[in-house]
Amino acid sequence: MCYPGCMESVQENLKRRSFLGRSLGATLAAATAVGSAAAVAATPAKARGAVSFTDVIDLTHSLYEGFPTFDGAPWFSKKPAFTYAKDGLNLNVWTLYEHTGTHMDAPLHFSAQGMSVDEIPVGDLVVPLAVIDIRDRAAQDPDATVMPADIRRWESRHGRLPDGCCVVMNSGWHKLLKSPRFVGRDAQGKNHTPGFHPSTTDFLMKERHVKGIGVDTLSLDAGIASGPFPVHNSWLPSGRWGIEALANLDAVPEAGAHLMVGGPKVEGATGGLSRVLALV
Ligand SMILES: [Zn+2]
Repeated sequence: MCYPGCMESVQENLKRRSFLGRSLGATLAAATAVGSAAAVAATPAKARGAVSFTDVIDLTHSLYEGFPTFDGAPWFSKKPAFTYAKDGLNLNVWTLYEHTGTHMDAPLHFSAQGMSVDEIPVGDLVVPLAVIDIRDRAAQDPDATVMPADIRRWESRHGRLPDGCCVVMNSGWHKLLKSPRFVGRDAQGKNHTPGFHPSTTDFLMKERHVKGIGVDTLSLDAGIASGPFPVHNSWLPSGRWGIEALANLDAVPEAGAHLMVGGPKVEGATGGLSRVLALV
């Protein structure tokens, strides 16, 4: 028996399986893989160089009720609508804010006319990954930020940031998810968490070709950022995207991996729960 949409879903699964099936120990042309996705999405993606990888690392936290949120309010709940015991099938109802768990920020999040998640070309969601390690500094100072000098240090070791990449901050915060330090709220209600300094994102916008930035905290901006979210307010309106609350960053190399962002294809979404994978 096939429910409505079942054949489409089977075809998508087959395409996905053939994509991942070829991945282990193999080299595949990203243009082909992205081309398959594009055929499903009817969104053209640009051809690019080959992507080689031998492992897939999950950079996504599991979402659960009580997952930390920026303001401390509950942003996710899950209730059974049908249960196997009573109804012969399990099916839950989720209630959530778009920006909960490991999630994307689309340009529309901080702009009047920017792209929503469903409008971001799929070719922009499989990109080279550059990881900026500020763990030592953040361990001493929860208000530490990624500075232009951190980018230059990365480039002195690995060469210029690859065109079209995503630059991700590893502050070590992904390991603090279950600790109050993850949100770091003080008595005045101010959060103390690392993030990007606006001078760094200005540099990335003006001097480099970068599609997205990512953090292992709840905000692209540092918790104590002066002014109303300076990084959100400059980076997202420029047509670029962000990812927040990344997991497992210690498992990926600083350079050489690719990032694959599975954002939700919801019309008009300003962001949303995402499955984020590193192809290493
Ligand atoms: Zn967000």
